Amino acid sequence: MNFLEERIIKDGVVKPGNVLKVDSFLNHQIDIDLYQKMGQEFKERFKNENINKILTIEASGIGIACVAAQYFNVPVVFAKKSHSINLDGDMYVAEVESFTHKTKNQVIVSKKFLGPEDHVLIIDDFLANGCALQGLISIVQQAGGSVEGIGIAIEKGFQNGGQIIRNLGYHLESLAIVDAMDDETGEITFR
Ligand code: 5GP
Repeated sequence: MNFLEERIIKDGVVKPGNVLKVDSFLNHQIDIDLYQKMGQEFKERFKNENINKILTIEASGIGIACVAAQYFNVPVVFAKKSHSINLDGDMYVAEVESFTHKTKNQVIVSKKFLGPEDHVLIIDDFLANGCALQGLISIVQQAGGSVEGIGIAIEKGFQNGGQIIRNLGYHLESLAIVDAMDDETGEITFR
């Protein structure tokens, strides 16, 4: 088991509805030492990729992306969830359905901060059905940039997002892949 899997076993809580709660260390209260180890691990796994920007999505991806960015020495851009319908032409827009809130959001990135010169590493906290990632990939494509890699903290391997993204040919690295979890016993099985 790696350091993140060990921490999930220690402090993660399995909730009904295929939700893994990790808010004591990953996405509410944050363990910065853990984020640093994750950043180093992303750097190691993507060391052969030519990356000049990290793209993530608010809110939970931002902290992970920022700490990781210190090991890549690149800026971070995060997609904002927009509730506005009168978006102007200065934005890339994608539609993302939230796994946890079951709502649809438009996510936006300013054209100022992403373009054809960008070689992007996408980072997020969770991968479930892959909707958030597909939105971020679409934004990089609209910008004419290239997705060099995708780094995820926790992939829920029993949902289909990972398979969809890998089948599209992307270099996807998840630090922990949960293959099964049981909300009655609390048991978590990793790949
Ligand atoms: P997807 O778009 O891949 O279905 O879901 C990814 C997004 O949903 C992530 O950005 C994350 O915020 C949220 N998410 C999905 N599954 C879980 C989960 O089990 N626990 C938590 N805390 N967030 C999740």
